[in-house]
Amino acid sequence: MKACPFCNRTTAQVEADGELRYVDCKCGARGPSARTPEKAVWYWNIHMGYYHEINDILNDLKSWSAPSSESYRHLVGKLEKMK
Ligand SMILES: [Zn+2]
Repeated sequence: MKACPFCNRTTAQVEADGELRYVDCKCGARGPSARTPEKAVWYWNIHMGYYHEINDILNDLKSWSAPSSESYRHLVGKLEKMK
């Protein structure tokens, strides 16, 4: 189970809602619902992996040398919205 990107806890657990399963973190973050616990964890990991990847790209972009260009700001704005 990947760490929660909102609070960094690694204690998120699979919870049940009727037939559906989802990963729930103590901070209130909740992964997509799935029919099996395995799939719920898979969704959680994919989603958080994606989130961490976007953060990495943003951090990488901020180290570039042309932070004032229009295209740069456009790209960072787009990525910020994806988070
Ligand atoms: Zn959390």
